[in-house]
Amino acid sequence: MPAQLINGKSLSATLRQQIAAEIATQVGKGVRRPGLAVILVGQDPASQIYVRNKSLACEEVGIQSFYYGLPESCSQEELGALIEQLNADPAVDGILLQLPLPKPLDASRVLESIDPCKDVDGFHPYNLGRLAERRPLLRPCTPRGIMTLLDSIQTEYRKKHAVIVGASNIVGRPMALELLLAGCTISVCHRFTQNLAYFVKQAELLICAVGKPGLIQGDWIQEGATVIDVGISRLPDGSLRGDVDFESARMKAAWLTPVPGGVGPMTIAMLLRNTVEIWQSSATFISTPQFTGTEGSARRC
Ligand code: NAD
Repeated sequence: MPAQLINGKSLSATLRQQIAAEIATQVGKGVRRPGLAVILVGQDPASQIYVRNKSLACEEVGIQSFYYGLPESCSQEELGALIEQLNADPAVDGILLQLPLPKPLDASRVLESIDPCKDVDGFHPYNLGRLAERRPLLRPCTPRGIMTLLDSIQTEYRKKHAVIVGASNIVGRPMALELLLAGCTISVCHRFTQNLAYFVKQAELLICAVGKPGLIQGDWIQEGATVIDVGISRLPDGSLRGDVDFESARMKAAWLTPVPGGVGPMTIAMLLRNTVEIWQSSATFISTPQFTGTEGSARRC
């Protein structure tokens, strides 16, 4: 039987409606709107589209988005000064720095200068460290979105062997930490992994985040596996393709995410969710911190 598709688009729409309702309720009581600052350095066309989509998604749910477009020529110090200003701005709950940055800017240095309590992408070493030590606060959006997708299909992933292909800071590594926290046994593959097919065949749960269209072939996939395809590549004909060969994988997997319409919309939903959680924990919102789904309050970190 062909795999059942995991519909990230529809789950994301439901989550956005919930977020919009939460915001509307509080704004109706006179609370200020949540605010997200979005920084784009340079003119990369793909990044411009991502930033526009994120800003639109914010508007739709009632989050105020503040856009900062900086020229490619901007210096590390100028970018640092903007982050400092946003760190101190009480109307800004979350700060999003669109990656990659043009060379020679050092993204790690900039990410580290973001207040960890406003680190809406969860990329600050403090937040990654909290996830590593099993006390997550702000969690990276794509892995968090994938955990939400997995919960939505109600298949048991605790005790399962999860294989992650791709070991980037933004997807593969935090994904491994999320799944470890959830009780999976983890293998992480990367560009130096020998015999990728061998590892993929062991996967009861397979997460692919490489960016090479069709890298994972259907006959590598274990019968009945759950397959999450994070990769998004644009082909010369303009269509989008994932890392997994969709048609052949569909004949082996029990569950499979489509590209587009799987992980992508969930990443944006989690960006909104993280922004709202920071807002909800802020002193201007409530006096008792209630940092949903995680431990403690982001404002107290
Ligand atoms: P990246 O380039 O930072 O990392 C790619 C990883 O793949 C690296 O760890 C590398 O070692 C590994 N890799 C490369 N070739 C490999 C091979 N032949 N076998 C095994 N591993 C190999 O990429 P990234 O930022 O993690 O993004 C990966 C993909 O996911 C891209 O297509 C990106 O567009 C997509 N992405 C999607 C979302 C979403 O929301 N859907 C979010 C982030 C990234």
